[in-house]
Amino acid sequence: MPYTAPIKDQQFVLQAIAGLEEVLALPGNEDTSVELVDAILEEANKFASAILAPLNKLGDKGHQLADGVVTTVEGFKEAYHQFRDAGWVGMRAPVEFGGQGLPALVTMATEEMWCASNLAFSLCPLLTLGAVEALDHHASDELKAIYLPKMSSGEWPGTMNLTEPQAGSDLAQVRSKAIPQADGSYLISGQKIFITWGEHDMADNIVHLVLARLPDAPAGVKGISLFVVPKFLVNADGSLGKRNDAYCVSIEHKLGIHGSPTCVMSYGDNGGAVGYLVGEANKGLAYMFTMMNHARLGVGVEGMAISERAYQKAVAYAKDRIQSRELGSDNSAPAAIIRHPDVRRMLMTMRAYIEGMRALTYFGGAALDKAAKHPDAAERQKNQYLINFLIPIIKGWNTEVANVVTSLGVQVHGGMGFIEETGAAQHMRDARITAIYEGTTGIHGMDLIGRKLASEKGLTCFTLLQEIDATLVALGQENDPTLAAIQRGVKQAALAAKESADFLLARFDQQPKQAAAGSVPFLMLMGVTLAGWLLAKSALIAKQQLAAGGADEAFCQNKLITARFFAEHIASQALAYGYEITQGAESTLALPDDQF
Ligand SMILES: Cc1cc2nc3c(=O)[nH]c(=O)nc-3n(C[C@H](O)[C@H](O)[C@H](O)COP(=O)(O)OP(=O)(O)OC[C@H]3O[C@@H](n4cnc5c(N)ncnc54)[C@H](O)[C@@H]3O)c2cc1C
Repeated sequence: MPYTAPIKDQQFVLQAIAGLEEVLALPGNEDTSVELVDAILEEANKFASAILAPLNKLGDKGHQLADGVVTTVEGFKEAYHQFRDAGWVGMRAPVEFGGQGLPALVTMATEEMWCASNLAFSLCPLLTLGAVEALDHHASDELKAIYLPKMSSGEWPGTMNLTEPQAGSDLAQVRSKAIPQADGSYLISGQKIFITWGEHDMADNIVHLVLARLPDAPAGVKGISLFVVPKFLVNADGSLGKRNDAYCVSIEHKLGIHGSPTCVMSYGDNGGAVGYLVGEANKGLAYMFTMMNHARLGVGVEGMAISERAYQKAVAYAKDRIQSRELGSDNSAPAAIIRHPDVRRMLMTMRAYIEGMRALTYFGGAALDKAAKHPDAAERQKNQYLINFLIPIIKGWNTEVANVVTSLGVQVHGGMGFIEETGAAQHMRDARITAIYEGTTGIHGMDLIGRKLASEKGLTCFTLLQEIDATLVALGQENDPTLAAIQRGVKQAALAAKESADFLLARFDQQPKQAAAGSVPFLMLMGVTLAGWLLAKSALIAKQQLAAGGADEAFCQNKLITARFFAEHIASQALAYGYEITQGAESTLALPDDQF
C-alpha cells in the first residue's frame, strides 16, 4: 500500500499551531528558513514513499538470527545505507559532530514520515539519536570524539540497553555488573532483554549504551551507571579492532514490528565486555532521562504516524469497496462503502484523532525547542515545565489512540482487514507496542499525576486551562455555528479536566491509591482536552484564512469540519473520563486479590 506524507497538514500545524517561525528564530536555528523546511519535507516524503514504504510489508517477514548474526530482510541494508548517505540520520545531531543540528520541531515532521512509512526501520535511527543525545550531554570529550561523528552520520547506529528480565518498568532492579579495570575501562556482564536493533548487518559497528552497577554501588536507582559498549572495539587510529564480548543470543518472536530485531543481548559470557563509563558513576539513570524526553516524544510521533498510515489505507479501501445500497439514494445499485454513515464515522474518527495528535505533538516539539534554546531564561523554564507536563500525555495518549485508530482501520476493511495480505492488520499489530515500550501508559499516567501535576501543584495544567478559556472566548465571539459547536465540546472537556485535576491534587498525598486509580483516565482526559483545544485553534485560524481570501478553501473547510467532529465525538469522552476519575476509584480497588 502506498504512503504519501500529509505535507499540507504538517505545514499547517507547524506554522499555525507550533509557531515554526518563532522556533526558527531561536538562537542557533537562524540558518533554517521556512522554505528550507518545505524543501526538507518534500525530499523526506520522496524517500519515505519510494524507499521505506514498499519495504514495510517485507520487513513483516522478520529478520534471521544465525550464529549470533542477524541478517536483515532483503532491501533493509540497502535502504539504510541510502538513508544514512542522504544525511537523514544526523538531522538533529549536534553540528560539531557532523550532524545538522535542526530543531526538534522540524525533525519531528520528517520522523513522522519515517515512522508512517516503515515503523520497524525507523527505530534504528531513532534509538541512535537517543544515544547521541545522551553521549553529547554526559560523555567525556574523548568518548564523544571517538563515537559521536560515526553515530551522528549513522555509520555506527546506537542502542539502548536498560531492560533485564527482572527490571522493566522498575529499573531499580538492574543487576548487570561493571568491574573497573586498571586501564580505566570496565568489564560488563549481564543479560539485557528486548533490545531494539541490538544486532544486525546494516552497519560495521553498533554502539550499545548499557546500564550496569559498579561493585560498590548503592542499591536502587542511585547505584546505576551508564556505559558505552561497542560491538567492535575501536583502535587508537579510529579503525575497528577486536570483537567485543557482547552478543545477541536470540531474537524475540513478537506480535508486530517484525522488521525490527528485538534482541536478547548477553554481555560478558567470555570474560567480560569492554565498556567505558559515561560521565560519573551512579548517575546512569539520570543521564538516560536526558534523552528520554526526546525518545518519549518520538514514540508519541510513532503513534500518530502509524495511525496516518492506517487511515490512508482505510480511505482508499472505503472508496473502492462496493457494498450495499446507499441510504436515501434513488440509485438502487450498491455504493462505495464510504457512502455509509457508519463507515464515515470510522473514517472521521481516525482522521480527527490523527489531526488532534499531530497538533498536540508538534505543539510539544516547539516547547522542547524553546526550552532548550530560548534566549530568555524565564521562557526556557516555562517551556521546560510545559514539555515535562506534555510528554506523558503525548506518549501515552497518542499510543493508546493509535491502537484505536489502527483497529478502526481493520474494521473499515471488514473481513479483508483480518486477512494479512491486505496489510491493515500489520499496522494494528505494529501499533500495539507503542503503548508499552519507552514506559507503559500506566507508568506515564503515574508520572503525569505525580511528578508533573502534583509536584507543581497543578501550575502548568491550570495555565493550559486558562489558555483554553481564552480560545473559548475567541470562539464565542465569532458568531459561527461550527465554531460554536466546537466551543461547546471543548468547554465541557476543559471543565472535566479542571474538576479532575482538583480531585487528584486533593488526594495525591493522603490517598495515593485513589489518585493512582484515576491516573490513566486523567492522561486520556488531558489528551482529548488539549487536542480538542488545539484543533479549535486550528478551526479559528482556518476561518480567518478563509475570510482573508486566497487560502486553499477545501483544506480550510476540512479543518473546520474535522475540528467540529473532534469536539462532538472525541472531546466529549472527557465527561466519561472525569466521572471515572472522581467517582470510580473505590470500585477499582475494592475486589480482594484472591477474588480475581
Ligand atoms: C518490542 C520491544 C522493544 C523494546 N525495546 C527496548 C530497548 O530497545 N531497550 C530497552 O532497554 N528496553 C526495551 N524494551 C522494554 C520495554 O521498555 C519494557 O517492556 C517496558 O518498559 C515495560 O516493562 P516490562 O515489560 O518489564 O513490564 P512490567 O514492568 O512488568 O509491567 C507489566 C504491567 O504492570 C504495569 N506496571 C508496572 N509497574 C507499575 C506501576 N508502578 N504503576 C502502575 N502500573 C505498573 C505496567 O503498566 C504493565 O501494564 C522493549 C520491549 C519490547 C516488547
